[in-house]
Amino acid sequence: MKKWNLIVDVANCTNCNNCFMADKDEYDGNTFPGYTFPQPRHGHRWIDIHRRERGSGSLMDVAYLPTMCNQCDDAPCIAAATNNAVYKREDGIVMIDPVRAKDQNQLVEACPYGHIWWNEEHRVPQKWFFDAHLLDMGWSGPRCVQVCASGCLSAARLEDEEMQAKAAAEKLEVLKPDLGTRPRVWYKNLFRFTREHIAGSVATVIAGHEEVCAGASVTLLKNGAKIAGQSTDFFGDFKFDDLTSGSGAYSMHVQWRDLTGGAAVELAGSVNLGVIMLAGNGK
Ligand code: SF4
Ligand code: SF4
Repeated sequence: MKKWNLIVDVANCTNCNNCFMADKDEYDGNTFPGYTFPQPRHGHRWIDIHRRERGSGSLMDVAYLPTMCNQCDDAPCIAAATNNAVYKREDGIVMIDPVRAKDQNQLVEACPYGHIWWNEEHRVPQKWFFDAHLLDMGWSGPRCVQVCASGCLSAARLEDEEMQAKAAAEKLEVLKPDLGTRPRVWYKNLFRFTREHIAGSVATVIAGHEEVCAGASVTLLKNGAKIAGQSTDFFGDFKFDDLTSGSGAYSMHVQWRDLTGGAAVELAGSVNLGVIMLAGNGK
């Protein structure tokens, strides 16, 4: 049977919060019997966007990570519920029954992703449920996908084997895979949020003036072996990304025309090496 999945491209999220606002608009003040009580106007963030800055100076970057209930196939919240209050639908969506879940505040702590909230007025735990009430009326996807102007959210209803093949082909990852919860929310370019970069600029002195070296060849080495290479851009900048935090010593070899140079770094977190000056008189 085909099941729902959500795909998030971290590289394209602009933090516009349209997804959060659409979710709030859908549930604030609205009861959907069998699906949910209203979402409180304040406090709950069924769709939340996290922010991370990496590096420094002109080469720092920022990435945004939209998060929500992962609709886990092996969901700790289902295991923690009594009275069958949390269940998985045949289409993969995890539901909290708003009546059966009354007073079950243990469910808030049961979610290892922090995506269950407590509604004190109705005394129920609540979370994002893929807008299942809309899908059941024939919608082609949840509201967050509809309003995401950058296109970084997409919904896919696929057989599990098809989704696994798509994940492998597009290098999709899930959050906290070590927990074994088997999420149905997948992330593209997750390294922008979870991993590190080494950035820098290349310059030299020509006729007494400092000039950037556009098109310089920069090689990244680990233990003396090349692991990546790239050319500096128009501004003489380079950035090697998708590196493991705390992965130790790296070195860089730089070549521009007949000039060479280099740098070494111990990678703790993302770093801007600053300007690598190539000695000599580039022509
Ligand atoms: S993300 Fe949390 S609330 Fe959602 S299914 Fe998984 S454990 Fe349950
Ligand atoms: S609507 Fe799309 S771009 Fe905007 S914050 Fe949400 S996921 Fe990011």
